[in-house]
Amino acid sequence: MKKRVDVVVIGGGHAGVEAAAAAARIGARTLLLTPDLERVGQMSCNPAIGGVAKGTVAREIDALGGVMGRATDASRIQFRMLNQRKGPAVWGPRAQCDRGLYPRAVRRILDEHASLELLQDLVTDVVLDRTSQPARVRAVVTRGGWTIEAESVVVTAGTFLRGRIHVGGDSGIGAGRAGEAPSIELAEVLESAGIEVGRFKTGTPPRIDGRSVDFEQLELQPGDPGDYRFAAYHDELIPDQRPCWIAWTGAELQAIVTRNLGRSALYGGALSGRGPRYCPSIEDKVVRFPDAQRHQVFLEPEGLETHELYVNGLSTSLPPEVQEEFLRSIPGLENARMTKVGYAIEYDYFPPQQLRHTLESRVVEGLYFAGQVNGTTGYEEAAAQGLVAGVNAAQHALGGPVFVLQRDQAYIGVLIDDLVTKGVDEPYRLFTSRAEYRLLLRQDNAVSRLGGLARSVGLLTERQEERFDEWQAGVDRVRRWFVDTPVSPAVVNAELERMGSAQVSEPVRAVELLRRPEVPARNLLTVVGYLERIESRAGRAADWVTAVEVDVKYGGYVERELKRAAQLRARAEFELGPALPYAEFATLSIEARQKLERLQPETLAQAGQIPGVSPADLQNLVLEVKRYRAAR
Ligand code: FAD
Repeated sequence: MKKRVDVVVIGGGHAGVEAAAAAARIGARTLLLTPDLERVGQMSCNPAIGGVAKGTVAREIDALGGVMGRATDASRIQFRMLNQRKGPAVWGPRAQCDRGLYPRAVRRILDEHASLELLQDLVTDVVLDRTSQPARVRAVVTRGGWTIEAESVVVTAGTFLRGRIHVGGDSGIGAGRAGEAPSIELAEVLESAGIEVGRFKTGTPPRIDGRSVDFEQLELQPGDPGDYRFAAYHDELIPDQRPCWIAWTGAELQAIVTRNLGRSALYGGALSGRGPRYCPSIEDKVVRFPDAQRHQVFLEPEGLETHELYVNGLSTSLPPEVQEEFLRSIPGLENARMTKVGYAIEYDYFPPQQLRHTLESRVVEGLYFAGQVNGTTGYEEAAAQGLVAGVNAAQHALGGPVFVLQRDQAYIGVLIDDLVTKGVDEPYRLFTSRAEYRLLLRQDNAVSRLGGLARSVGLLTERQEERFDEWQAGVDRVRRWFVDTPVSPAVVNAELERMGSAQVSEPVRAVELLRRPEVPARNLLTVVGYLERIESRAGRAADWVTAVEVDVKYGGYVERELKRAAQLRARAEFELGPALPYAEFATLSIEARQKLERLQPETLAQAGQIPGVSPADLQNLVLEVKRYRAAR
């Protein structure tokens, strides 16, 4: 059986979904291949999207016309804006989703793409034309007997490549995810094509039956009120909210885990790959922090129609009976029934320094890689890469320009630049500290930052373009109102007094008052009755107001940040030299201190190439070294 398309996407995870949808929106005839179409968009681990930095990425994907924001709105059962007490650069929208509704929404959205076909099959071979230099991708071959020719192929096989699952100290079983077969042939074919391969690992916690939990002993964690939306161009129906719960581990759990460490796949030596430092297993936590009295555990609902709870914070690869024992040591979980056992998985990844910024392989033309296969962890990181790879794969096939986001344009730009220039030595996850322009890269301004670009590349549908125009017009209208509108003392003074802000003696423009940290935009808009007028016109007024407010209030900081970044570039040759007491440089992250100590870079530029040493660490390093030298 034969077929010919422009772009083939291998895999229906978060990277594959965005890659296929983006390629199709650009206009490429696209085929997504995955062994089980019922699992397209499946959340392998925690059914949650967003968080600090990751939430901004989800909004960036949405601003570029992507799927993730819409699917999250259509399936979210709890929403919280993290870090709201801190500055807007680190606000993190996070949604707990219904595990069943999310993939269903993904499938519905994919089906809207006319030039996208889905096919249930496993890719076992990638055919190359080795006569050209470099080699070129020609086709993929499936287990079901298809040969599909394409100009571009995007590999998004996630944790499936030679995946092995471990529970306890066993030797593991081949699997790409619990209950799904691994992808062996594809891994072998890519390796034999000259792609370098590494090995990473990750883990997931057990799930429990909510009916066996004593909620009286737990702390309730409700969602935020209001209907915050990830999707700017679509109005999905948002399901009802559900609360989460907080529990605490204690000394008994510590003792159980310590006693059984030798039986853990992670600690018993069964696993060789490196794991994500920021998503540690309970074994890691107990070993790394032996003096910690307790660890926080979040019990998060897996959906509206199930009692199953995700036990966030207890990722493990201990044997099932030990998992049950330590679960039952937690107050409130004394009678907990496990529904799914926690496990660890190790899998192949391809060190991403082999890629260009377009995510195309340097070794094989037309072959793109995105998601967990590039050494990242997380749905948002995967989806972001998928989108960029999908656009470039389509442009490669159709003869269009490359699509690369810069570090000051998007977190997606930071992510991909980090991957292809620095590589990874452990599963890579995004943090705000990885971005040097984080006040520019906010969740509230994703549409303004990226919507115009998305349109110019052809990434927005007609409907999305209309909604983008509406959004921009709304933001401009609110901004103009603040800049143009004088507010008289009679109208505003009582409100200023209530907010603890100095009163005014003559009319001032609203924007002057908005610059004051203690004066929220909503209060100003309310006293003059303008909020009511714009809110009655459009449901997105709150977003427009936030975008303008943050721009005005933090404008000075943004400029200062840009200046600092420019200075940092100039200081790239700052000498570090040997024998610096990195461990004592308390303003650096622990990860940076450990790695600098180990690798002893000679210049700041070299320090900047070390994975895990962030731009903020570099700034602090210069100050620490100067202080240290002055003191000597
Ligand atoms: P995946 O979601 O893994 O999708 C890969 C897709 O490729 C699947 O559809 C698969 O069927 C398909 N595929 C594979 N081989 C072939 C082939 N030969 N032909 C056709 N299709 C193929 N992330 C977090 O953010 N937090 C966590 O706590 C977390 N814990 C995790 C725990 C476990 C056990 C696992 C497995 C993953 C965990 N992750 C976690 C990672 C998260 O699941 C991934 O980062 C994310 O799903 C990656 O998306 P992806 O699209 O790259 O790959």
